[in-house]
Amino acid sequence: MKYIEPHAHMVSRVTDDYVKITMAGCQAICEPAFWAGFDRSSVQGFFDYFCQLTEHEPKRAGKFGLPHFCWLCINPKEAEDVKLAEEVIAIIPKFLDGPNVLGIGEIGLNKNSRNELKVLELHVDLAARHDQLILVHTPHLEDKLKGTRLIVDVLKNDKRIRPERVIIDHVEEHTIKLVLDPGMWAGMTLYPESKCTPARAIDMVEVYGNERLWMNSACDWGISDPLAVPKTALEMKKRGHTVDAIEKLVLQNPARFLSQCPKFKLG
Ligand SMILES: [Zn+2]
Repeated sequence: MKYIEPHAHMVSRVTDDYVKITMAGCQAICEPAFWAGFDRSSVQGFFDYFCQLTEHEPKRAGKFGLPHFCWLCINPKEAEDVKLAEEVIAIIPKFLDGPNVLGIGEIGLNKNSRNELKVLELHVDLAARHDQLILVHTPHLEDKLKGTRLIVDVLKNDKRIRPERVIIDHVEEHTIKLVLDPGMWAGMTLYPESKCTPARAIDMVEVYGNERLWMNSACDWGISDPLAVPKTALEMKKRGHTVDAIEKLVLQNPARFLSQCPKFKLG
């Protein structure tokens, strides 16, 4: 089986994970900028992280013949300090021409605070000014519905943003329609404990169809599974989905969205 992992935080995974995902048929891996498990104390910490995402991690993936791409931003968990966020946003443009940079992400909201919303708007403006794709993180649990509504409104209100160039990730049953209806893409995150299980993701595909939809593991430093996408593909097969339908969801859909950035290429 060939597939794309469109959302993985490989800086916090061991090299053995690269071996496993390559053996499972992964053709490209994409890494949005995210929280490190602790707050970085200065803009310099982000500068180093962006170097890691644009220079070092592609080399580590390259040892397995796996193309590695990334997205840049200050993530919503660290967006409470607006001054730091402004400083970080100011250094992003110098990285945007990097050969593996796909766009701005994962931006969004965490606690739906006023400061997070301000930083979200700054990121959307940055993406619009530099004609970048956008990848959005949505809040968890009780904050998700409200946060998704706020995010969709910010994106819809900026007339420079084309919905087909935005993917909103971590959708669940109660938010997927909010994202698909205005023409944006939706990501389903397969987590062992929270977010979305393989069974729930397949249920959503069966209800909402497989247009403008992808699946990812979002594996990071927490409890997560770098093989969640191929495992869910197997689960789909067991449920009677055709090979073509599975391939559309795990390979062709992400390739179609990501290829809107001309730098994206499969291995
Ligand atoms: Zn993530």
